[in-house]
Amino acid sequence: MMNLLSRHMEDWSTPQYFCFAIRCEVCGEFWYSSSIPFSKAAQAADCLEKKELYDAIYQREKVRAKLAAGKEARELFSQCPICGRLVCDSCFLICDEIDMCRECACRMKERGEPVMP
Ligand SMILES: [Zn+2]
Ligand SMILES: [Zn+2]
Repeated sequence: MMNLLSRHMEDWSTPQYFCFAIRCEVCGEFWYSSSIPFSKAAQAADCLEKKELYDAIYQREKVRAKLAAGKEARELFSQCPICGRLVCDSCFLICDEIDMCRECACRMKERGEPVMP
């Protein structure tokens, strides 16, 4: 699941903040992770001769921010076991036999309630 999430994660980070987005493959809505400030944003802008140093710190913090975003997303997205797509909780249904996305449920005429109505 983490691999699937990280493959779908889009990088929306700026030089000041780390932020990632994931798009539900059923409804197409974007979800954005909580943005995490880059701890050295002010110093990096002031001290250009140390750009490489701050770039390295930025990359290190970005890796951590991406992991945190993945953990956050894991609570809100599921992989449909039928079509294999990554879907948000509003599009993921709890059905009798097996939980699945609403498009698969509709195609197979399965009934279910969304995880997040
Ligand atoms: Zn959705
Ligand atoms: Zn599906």
